[in-house]
Order: sequence, then C-alpha cells, then structure tokens
Amino acid sequence: MHQSAPAPFQVFKFGGASIQDATGLRRVGDLLDRYASARQLIVVSASGKTTNALERLLEERLLGHESEAVAVWDQMAQVHLEMGHLCDAPLGSESVAMAVQKTLIDLRLRCFAPLTGNYAADYDRIVGCGELLSNALVAAYLAQRQPNVSLLDAYAVFRTDSNHRQARIDWGETTKRLTEATEMSGWYVLPGFIGADAQGNPTTLGREGSDYTASAAAFMLGAHSVTIWKDVPGFLSGDPKAFPEVHPIARMSYEEAIELAFYGASVIHPKAVQPVKKAGIPLYIKSFLYPQHPGTCIDAQPGIEPACVCLIRSAHQSLVRLSTRELSFVAEDHLIRIYRCFHRHGIKVNLSQLSAAHASFCFASDPRIEPVLFDELQADFDLEHRNGLSLYTAYHHDADARKYLRSLGQVVIEQRSPVHFRVLLEETQK
Ligand code: ASP
Repeated sequence: MHQSAPAPFQVFKFGGASIQDATGLRRVGDLLDRYASARQLIVVSASGKTTNALERLLEERLLGHESEAVAVWDQMAQVHLEMGHLCDAPLGSESVAMAVQKTLIDLRLRCFAPLTGNYAADYDRIVGCGELLSNALVAAYLAQRQPNVSLLDAYAVFRTDSNHRQARIDWGETTKRLTEATEMSGWYVLPGFIGADAQGNPTTLGREGSDYTASAAAFMLGAHSVTIWKDVPGFLSGDPKAFPEVHPIARMSYEEAIELAFYGASVIHPKAVQPVKKAGIPLYIKSFLYPQHPGTCIDAQPGIEPACVCLIRSAHQSLVRLSTRELSFVAEDHLIRIYRCFHRHGIKVNLSQLSAAHASFCFASDPRIEPVLFDELQADFDLEHRNGLSLYTAYHHDADARKYLRSLGQVVIEQRSPVHFRVLLEETQK
C-alpha cells in the first residue's frame, strides 16, 4: 500500500498585539483549534511592546545605566511570568509559568552579557530575546491544550548571513533544516524575526520581520496558505488612526500588496509578499478580534477589490538637500557616493528629487545615525537638513485624494505618476 503524502502545512503568524496578555494567549489557542489541521506552523512575534522594551534595555546598557536596564528586564520578566501563571491549566502536566521561568534564566544571561562594541551584533543578541520568550510561553501553553506541539529552535533552523539587523535568509540551508525539523505531523511553533549566521551568532531580519519569517517558511515548506492575524480586520485602504475614512479591502494581487507595503502600509512587512508570490500561496490577513470577518486575501488575480484609493502616511521623516561644492550639477558619480553612504548606514531612501543644482533625499529620521551620516556627506557636499516632515502616498489616486493630501500642510516636495501621488509635507498642527 502506498503511503499518502503528508497534508501541506498551514502557516499562522501572530504579532505582538495578539499575545499581549493572558486573554490574548487563550484567544490564540481557541483560534488555532478552529483550524484543526494536522500540520500547522505557528510563527510568533515578541509579545506586546517587548521589542521596544529590549531596545531600551540595550540603550540603557550602552549608557552604562545598569540599574535602569535591570528595571526594564524585571518589568518584562514579570509580565511574561504573570501570563504564564494565568494560563496554567489547574492540572497541567508541564507548567507554562515554569517554562517561562526556565527561559528567563537563559535570556537574562544573554541580555546582560558584556557588550561586544559591535552595536548591531549586540542588538540582535538582546532584542531577539523577545521572540525567544514569547515563543516559549506560547509553545508551553499550546502543549497544555494539544498533543504534538514542538517549539523549534530558530537559531538552529533559520540560517542567515551575518548582516546584523537586516539579515538575509540562506534559503538553501534553511529549507533543508526546516524540512528536517518538521517532518512529523503536529504543530510547530517558530519564533519570527530571528535566526543565526553560519557561526551561530544571533541575527534579526529587521523590525516587523516576523511576517517575513512566516512567508519565507511557507515558501520553503510548500504550505497551503499563510494567515497573518492582526488587530485590524485585514488590509484597509488606509490607517484608521491617520485617515478619517477607510474601507476594508477584500482581495488584492501580490503586486498591489508589494507596492503598498513598499510605500509604507504597515499592515504587512514589505518583504513578506515575495516568497508567497513566488510559490503561489494565498496570504490572508485577518483580525484575531473578529475571526469570523473574512479579512483580506492576497493572491495572483490582478487588481484590488473593491477598487479604491489607498492612502499611506509615514511620519517622522528627515529631508537632506545636497549640493556640490564646485557648483557643478549633481551627476551620476555624486549619486553613487551618496547612495553608498546611505547604504552603509542602513538608510532606506523613501523619496528623492533631483534638480540641476541639488539632490534631495527623504528617509525615516534616526537620531542615532544622522550625526555620523551628515558628517560623512558634508565631507563632499553642502548639506541642508529638515526633520519632522510627513510623507503621504495616494496609490491609485484621484482628484479628491490629491486635494485632501495637499490640504494637510505645507508641501515641501510633490511627485506624481499615473498610479502614485506623493507629497512630503510640513503638517499643519491640528
Ligand atoms: N518583534 C519584532 C518587532 O517588533 C518583529 C515583529 O514583530 O515582527 O519588530
């Protein structure tokens, strides 16, 4: 008799908001039960605002403020332990709180080991601990409800290069390791966002990178689908916190989702669509608060349904305007030097504009990097800098959208193509 091929994986990704307290954790358990599939890969991000807290812990340590760093740690440890206690089944064989306690012992050593002087490497070692902690918690909790729940070791499975804070996945090695680690039926819990390089040093895939982990893993395992659980009911035509009127989007193509994420729609990580697109795997974005709501399906059919204008706001933007000292035009060789400099500092240029005498570049403000970046640029160019700007994009724009965006402040730069309308503004204070 032939053995039938194992059922394909369903991949689920839960972000910080879905597991920020014990109620959230129980909700995740209930949601997963609904799917009752024999093979699930559950990718989990750090809970609540833990990643920000760990960034703060690192900053305090860099400043030599050890007791402030310990206070951040204590708070984080307490929140997770409390969740563990609250979610412990009265007669659970393995205690969730015990699993958290054990993990905390290991993570404390990682967070308070001597700093190496390599900021990005220290960042990855410390900040990635949020995922290690939340995943230990989630796996222990699910194991109380289900047989066959395994916690995968992201450092052993998810191989990346050594490009700290923006590590690139080693697809061949990770596919091999992930496939081997998930051969049996069951539920596998995989920390998002983190991996390790060939020497075993912890790396991270960039902020909000757990979406990317989920979609990359789905690609590698040939999964049936990926579902990203959010606190919003799918992809909306804009961020409801930024725009007065937004509409739910029922379906969009992979290409439209890539465009929207690239221009800053925060509902999904910009890199997360490519792997599922390549494999033709549908990606669903659904609300963990209203799971009966259909959410958004991202697949291969062209277009957005219903057709609408999508609005994106990126706040806290800096603008640098560079001009050559020798009063010549800004030419290709200058641009190569400028972009090399941005690349070296990990700056993503969100908008650029060239004129005969100047080149202007807009990017997310970063007070840690800007002083060094500006020093380097000023070695070759005259530099003017503004910050506190907001970049708005209307995708599939119309006259009303353009008028509305222009009304939000003083226009610094405006650009338009048949599909995109973009304005960099100094916003009028509301
Ligand atoms: N925990 C990481 C972050 O907050 C990764 C993620 O949530 O996707 O950026």
